[in-house]
Amino acid sequence: MTTPPPKRRSPKQRALEVLARVKALYPDAKCSLDFETPVQLLIATILSAQCTDERVNKVTPELFRRFPDAAAIASADPLELEDLVKSTNFFRNKAKNIQAACRRIMEVYGGEVPQTMEDLLTLPGVARKTSNVVLANAFGINLGVTVDTHVKRLSYRLGLTKHTDPVKVEQDLIKLLPRPDWENWSIRLIYHGRAVCNARKPDCDRCELADLCPSAGKAVMLPETGSSEKKLARAIATETAKTTRNRKSSAKA
Ligand code: SF4
Repeated sequence: MTTPPPKRRSPKQRALEVLARVKALYPDAKCSLDFETPVQLLIATILSAQCTDERVNKVTPELFRRFPDAAAIASADPLELEDLVKSTNFFRNKAKNIQAACRRIMEVYGGEVPQTMEDLLTLPGVARKTSNVVLANAFGINLGVTVDTHVKRLSYRLGLTKHTDPVKVEQDLIKLLPRPDWENWSIRLIYHGRAVCNARKPDCDRCELADLCPSAGKAVMLPETGSSEKKLARAIATETAKTTRNRKSSAKA
């Protein structure tokens, strides 16, 4: 039987070919957040929502020097925590969540980050994306596919999902990819998204996946964002409005 041309292959065949190519393109790709312990990775991942990993890596050295573990963060002065993470966007919510997550880790899990999806999802500020990152990169456990903004965009453009809600994108990818490669997929698509297939101007002319990609040369933008992103965007808007109001009232006082 002859193999069909790349763009006419089934989504599974194309997903496996994309996987092989991004593995070859980015052989040394790894999680780009700096951490030494599972709790530090958990905190860095919470801080990375709506913020670049580069920015988070600038903030965490001092944060982890002052508060190296769950016990220290659980008992930290909340204002000091806010101050340390304030350049990461939406910092009040993030500071509140990392402290509440560390308190629960101390009270319920004996100071250790739990290693099941079910338990991780009980921590404040932790959804499936954060759980998948922590399970895969701190414990080597593949329980799901991490779907961040790059993975969502590239999987959509590559025609491997019709969804934009991260939970639905993840379910589609789980059906297409071998389990041991779930995190390999995410980490490498993040690299490719940053290097070639960026949100506004994908560089299809120099993309090594172009022959497999139904969006090549079409600059396909994502339709409406998924529900969890909308929730996050609303939270950021509320916090920004609150900060502006506070600034105005302190200026008047
Ligand atoms: S061909 Fe273009 S749209 Fe498709 S993955 Fe490459 S850069 Fe992105």
